[in-house]
Amino acid sequence: MNNIYFFYHFNNLLKTQIQTQKDIKHLIDDNKKEFAQQNKQMNEKEFGIMDKYKDLLSSSELFLTNLSVISNDIKDYLYDNCTHDWTVDIIDINPDISKQIKYCNYCESTREM
Ligand SMILES: [Zn+2]
Repeated sequence: MNNIYFFYHFNNLLKTQIQTQKDIKHLIDDNKKEFAQQNKQMNEKEFGIMDKYKDLLSSSELFLTNLSVISNDIKDYLYDNCTHDWTVDIIDINPDISKQIKYCNYCESTREM
């Protein structure tokens, strides 16, 4: 496997990981009220468990940010090193306006035209 191909697949893996992290974060955010309500009735030991989780959540935000940084580095790398195979496509911005773009069939880089 050449390195460009490796990074293409590695970036897809990172994108999945980023999306999963975001989905979990949304799930937690949606349940914040219930969490807060439940926390009020917890004893010290139970509260300690939730506290550990809260600490982990704040470090996972940094983890998510760093994952995105790495993913963007790979995107730039692919843009610079791929032997692009461009396809022209039309995307709808809204019902009245559409825009022509080019995307690469290998690395999925896009370019406005
Ligand atoms: Zn490409």
